Amino acid sequence: MSAQYVQVAVPVPMRQLFTYQVPDNMQTPPIRVGERIAVPFGNRQVIAIVMDCTHECNIDNDKIKAISKRLNDSFHLSSSLVSFLKLCSNYYHHPIGDVFQQALPKLLRQVKQLDIQPPMVWHSHEQAHNEVIEKFASKAPKQHALFQLIKKHQGISWSELRTLGYSKVQLNALVNKQLIVEKEQVAKPFLWQTKLLAAENKQRLSTEQAVIVAAINLNHNKFACHLIDGVTGSGKTEVYLQAMEKTLSSHQQVLVIVPEIGLTPQTLLRFEQRFTVPICLHHSNLNDNERLTTWLNAQQGSAAIVIGTRSAIFSPLHHLGLIIVDEEHDGSLKQQDSFRYHGRDLAILRAKQLGIPVVLGSATPSFESLQNALSGKYRYHQLQKRAGNSTEAKISLIDIATQQMEYGLSGTLKHEIKQTLARGEQVLIFLNRRGYAPAVHCQECHWVADCQRCDKPYTFHQKQQLLICHHCGSQKRVPKQCPCCGTVRIAPIGQGTEQLERRIAELFPHSSLVRIDRDSTRKKGQLTKLLQEISDKKHQLLIGTQMLAKGHHFPDVTLVAVIDGDGALFSFDFRASEQMAQLLIQVAGRAGRASKPGKVLVQTNYPDHPLLQDLVHNGYQHFAQQALKERQQALLPPFSFQALIRAEANYPSYPEKFLRALAAKPLAQCEFAGPVPAAMEKKAGKFRYHLIIQARSRKHLHCAILELLSQVCENEWHKKVRWNLDIDPIDLNW
Ligand code: ADP
Ligand code: ZN
Ligand code: ZN
Repeated sequence: MSAQYVQVAVPVPMRQLFTYQVPDNMQTPPIRVGERIAVPFGNRQVIAIVMDCTHECNIDNDKIKAISKRLNDSFHLSSSLVSFLKLCSNYYHHPIGDVFQQALPKLLRQVKQLDIQPPMVWHSHEQAHNEVIEKFASKAPKQHALFQLIKKHQGISWSELRTLGYSKVQLNALVNKQLIVEKEQVAKPFLWQTKLLAAENKQRLSTEQAVIVAAINLNHNKFACHLIDGVTGSGKTEVYLQAMEKTLSSHQQVLVIVPEIGLTPQTLLRFEQRFTVPICLHHSNLNDNERLTTWLNAQQGSAAIVIGTRSAIFSPLHHLGLIIVDEEHDGSLKQQDSFRYHGRDLAILRAKQLGIPVVLGSATPSFESLQNALSGKYRYHQLQKRAGNSTEAKISLIDIATQQMEYGLSGTLKHEIKQTLARGEQVLIFLNRRGYAPAVHCQECHWVADCQRCDKPYTFHQKQQLLICHHCGSQKRVPKQCPCCGTVRIAPIGQGTEQLERRIAELFPHSSLVRIDRDSTRKKGQLTKLLQEISDKKHQLLIGTQMLAKGHHFPDVTLVAVIDGDGALFSFDFRASEQMAQLLIQVAGRAGRASKPGKVLVQTNYPDHPLLQDLVHNGYQHFAQQALKERQQALLPPFSFQALIRAEANYPSYPEKFLRALAAKPLAQCEFAGPVPAAMEKKAGKFRYHLIIQARSRKHLHCAILELLSQVCENEWHKKVRWNLDIDPIDLNW
């Protein structure tokens, strides 16, 4: 007999499942866990996912509703994915329905039968003439590379080519030469299993590297978490590639999670060039159809490798054999709204569920991972030297308190930049503050233009002549007169990338300059274009925010200058120094990537600060181990476990009272910190408060949160505030 009732997850913010009846005429074929069905909810029809099928139910028959429709398409979820999403919901105490919402492509969340067109993909012409190809190999190397890529991958999509940095113009040029053709994609499950792996560009591993690959592959059907702690350029990516080979050749899929995909086309190309298997990219620039196709390719096994940002962890890979998380320390792996999950932590959870290895890699491991590695919970691997013949760049501090400064540059720094340019090498100038100036003020009475909704200074953007609030996005013209004293002496204070760009252009008029930050790369494809121009040595001076600090390989950058090294020295957030150290080391990693030696100069007002001293003289490893000792003494994570409840409302008293009431009842084995006003107490007109719950063990924290959640409804303030729960919070600023 088929099931008469189903328990389903519904896309609503409630932490429970709902029961529906299955009408007789919908009972064949038998309904299964993971199926998508339509159900009535309130006065709407919504998509629900079947979590459980039963024959009995304890709800009165006249109260129970019937499901409206079964969507008999090929998009049911495997039971393994359903259990994984259940685990996620459980771990983060997040409503199960919303976990499904976030995990599924948009088109799968709509109540309609899907009629998807096979996407169009590119193939090379069989009769492409060798003479034609050779003729333009030297004249148009990019076109040639594009052709070779298409030829090798037969069936690569435009969105993938775009992400890899190719343009429509290059594609059309090849069409006109009759070298390539666009065809409908044919779903060929397991196509990759019969293809061979390309051995091209494969490096001979160093002993250090070989040991790691062997350790990963030794127990490739068992859960193990490996941390590769290796300086930038030490060959971590090469280790990933060679470890993947074993997985792929045993017909299993590989999932690679990276912080931001658009930032690293060069790394993506390395994957594409190494393997001839189909690779799917999963990132936020895909449109709804592309997203659905990627999902289907992963599920049917026609994608051998999925490379994606944090949400790729929900890819329905059926034959997953290995997960890699690159730059595991990177904050963008954590989602900072609604479902606040960490891509790395879910990668570990999924690997554990499936009994497969997971590999974390970073030059600056998070303290959490480092502690787990040092305590033996993870397998710890170090790569201490750069691969090939490049050496690690040396970091030096420039004391700016004692120097004459011009446009934010010290004499020492100017001199070094000049010398580097004279050698024909590139300079990277790092300033983590976009815009022209962090504020405008009145030189007469010191009035500062503040955003009224956030009580924080507006950032001045010169090009648009606008004041923009970086916290809420509101915009305003620069006042001609001071609203306080009426004079017209309104001027920028401090410096952002936009102003720095202008000043540097004045100081070095003969060198070409490029600025990379969120403002200069807003246009689609612009970032890839600028990065390519840097590789092609069109620019000698590169100015940018952290967008320029991450993962890039610029062989001719030999000087990295950090304009303001003091940013995080005096923060209240106990993670600020960890994040500052990671960023400094990552920026420094851009210097001297190839055979030329590199130099890193950091301008600071506090050259004697123990944090900076330790980092510069003893390196990240030492710095991290010292900092871990301090965390242990203070019982801070990773030596304790935290959850954060944020609450906000139009009046400051509401969130405070709400949290105070929650904290009134003691929880077993847990401590409360707060409620306190958030560091940014006011944002976009709302007042914000924090309450931290801390426990010595994860289990205690988990039980405490369950207890706390069960009390929320009795809290008289809960309807007057908006609140959310963040398990393992990493950003205490908001
Ligand atoms: P990471 O991922 O740690 O930054 P990569 O894997 O990108 O390091 O390696 C940095 C550079 O060194 C790359 O150009 C890579 O091709 C090269 N490389 C890596 N491993 C080796 C090796 N065993 N022998 C020679 N060169 C190598
Ligand atoms: Zn004034
Ligand atoms: Zn604002």
